[in-house]
Amino acid sequence: MLRELGEDPMREGLLDTPKRVEKAYRFLTSGYQANIDQVLNNALFTVDYSEMVIVKDIDFYSLCEHHLLPFFGKCHVAYIPSTKVIGLSKIPRVVDVFARRLQVQERLTTQIATTLNEVLQPRGVAVVMEAVHLCMLMRGVEKQNSKAVTSAMLGAFRDRPETRAEFMELIKSRGGLMP
Ligand SMILES: [Zn+2]
Repeated sequence: MLRELGEDPMREGLLDTPKRVEKAYRFLTSGYQANIDQVLNNALFTVDYSEMVIVKDIDFYSLCEHHLLPFFGKCHVAYIPSTKVIGLSKIPRVVDVFARRLQVQERLTTQIATTLNEVLQPRGVAVVMEAVHLCMLMRGVEKQNSKAVTSAMLGAFRDRPETRAEFMELIKSRGGLMP
């Protein structure tokens, strides 16, 4: 690749670059190796709680599968338990498992939602992701500062507009969704 770009791979600064790039990509795509059951092991609890649980402003970094360039931003997750809840710190881990793969933002959003839906079997799950894509920004395809927003709504969040509205309102307050 370096040679194709017109570089001299033997140049001092580039000598270790292939090794470093390989290591970086292995980490950035380590989600393929992750086992979701292992990530969630023993983090499910049975509770008598049926109000909305929200974890918002989860930072995530992913790679677009079309250009292998980063897209990154915030992820907001909510669910309404039926019998089980999950340790709150596990939700960002679930986001990472799917973000650390070659992705498109739409699929990433859906995978997080369907995984939580399967594991928790809640009354509903909502995931909203807002991200900037370097393949858009660096190549000047789109206006700077443009963000892509995707959402996946399941169960009560899909069926009940007032539940969805409550979630959207809660993630908007204090630095949530873009102004
Ligand atoms: Zn791209």
